[in-house]
Amino acid sequence: MAFEGLSERLQGAMTKIGKKGRITEADLKEMMREVRLALLEADVNFRVVKDFVKKVNERALGSDVLESLSPAQQVVKIVNEELTELMGGEQEPFLFSKKPPTVVMMVGLQGAGKTTTAGKLANYMKKRENKRPLLAAADVYRPAAIDQLQTIGKQLDFPVYQKGVEANPVAIAEEAVEEARMTGRDLVIIDTAGRLHVDELLMTELKNIKAAVQPDEILFTVDAMTGQDAVNVAKAFNEQLGITGVILTKLDGDTRGGSALSIRSVTGKPIKFTGQGEKLDDIEPFYPDRMASRILGMGDMLTLIERAQQDYDEVKAQEMADKIRENTFDFNDFIDQMDQVSNMGPIEDILKMIPGMSNWPGIDQVKVDPKDMAHMKAIVLSMTPEERENPEILSQSRRRRIAKGSARSLQEVNRMIKQFNESRKMMNKMSKGNFDGMEGLLGN
Ligand code: GDP
Repeated sequence: MAFEGLSERLQGAMTKIGKKGRITEADLKEMMREVRLALLEADVNFRVVKDFVKKVNERALGSDVLESLSPAQQVVKIVNEELTELMGGEQEPFLFSKKPPTVVMMVGLQGAGKTTTAGKLANYMKKRENKRPLLAAADVYRPAAIDQLQTIGKQLDFPVYQKGVEANPVAIAEEAVEEARMTGRDLVIIDTAGRLHVDELLMTELKNIKAAVQPDEILFTVDAMTGQDAVNVAKAFNEQLGITGVILTKLDGDTRGGSALSIRSVTGKPIKFTGQGEKLDDIEPFYPDRMASRILGMGDMLTLIERAQQDYDEVKAQEMADKIRENTFDFNDFIDQMDQVSNMGPIEDILKMIPGMSNWPGIDQVKVDPKDMAHMKAIVLSMTPEERENPEILSQSRRRRIAKGSARSLQEVNRMIKQFNESRKMMNKMSKGNFDGMEGLLGN
């Protein structure tokens, strides 16, 4: 799978820091060291890595992130946002011409996947944008390329404009656009020649085609597996030709992912699509935010973090933290907190959302039945206000009364009070920076 190593290492670094309730500058430094190594190992351009690490550090140290109530989440969020930014931030739309046909030039080295991607793009544009594409075979140096495009055209039922191997590629491109105009085709995708390396002759030919047809999009197609090379070639094509976007192919393979992360910042041009297989359906628009989440293995995690941040009342949380520290956390607070937490969604999800928690042994077994929560609440609500504020006075006779009032068994009432006392002790210890035995909270 693409990005596997990178994902694993980045997640490892995030998880490690997530296990800490508090994060010091030294923790952050250690995490960033690992992030840096992970990116370099994934073949991300070293300047890009340096810049990235600097930005994350500045943000993490600059505001009150480390002092906040959820420093680990905040740091993960920053890494995710900066990764997204690195890949371009917003998804870049495809540029359609106001005056059809829209003209697209596919450029890139031989074997990058240009011809296949020309077909995929035509297919995508027909299905998603209701376009009527025409393919143009301007790679006259490789007879097989013309055959390949014709086969694709037949498969997808699109016309292919071709003039064999003797014709001039610039003329073919011009005539194809004219043909589209005459036959009511609103999208022309021109497959151009590739070479094994960037060479002057090829660039001159591509420049001539560009000048003749003035394409709306010049899409540089590149094999993601070629890593740093992909970035260097993209840079060369952009400098000489002025590309409008990049299509990264073979993301279904075992790519380390470096090119996906560096191309945007090195060329300043967005990745617009990715190829994820050999079939003509295997193309997807590129969304930087989704890709960042995929790399960090976050999935719904960020949504959960945002939800938690939206729903969490910071002032109340601070009051709660003070009470825990002063050991005055009582049953009223307990109920309050239970209500707050249950507003955020299932507890199991919230636990897993805490970076690091998801890797705790046994976390998958943690199940909190909403019914149990309701029972606990019933027990607390059967206490007198005095009892709620002073859990110490809960004698056996009081407990019997509470059991009756809440329609729970005496054992259940005893168990819940015992758990409450233990959690209170544990939280008080944790608030003083002692995390030993935290697993006990999860019942492990
Ligand atoms: P061109 O020389 O740039 O026109 O490249 P081709 O379109 O001929 O593609 C070269 C090879 O890469 C072919 O075998 C394609 O099937 C394959 N290919 C293209 N795109 C992808 C992709 O996204 N994933 C995979 N796995 N293979 C691809």
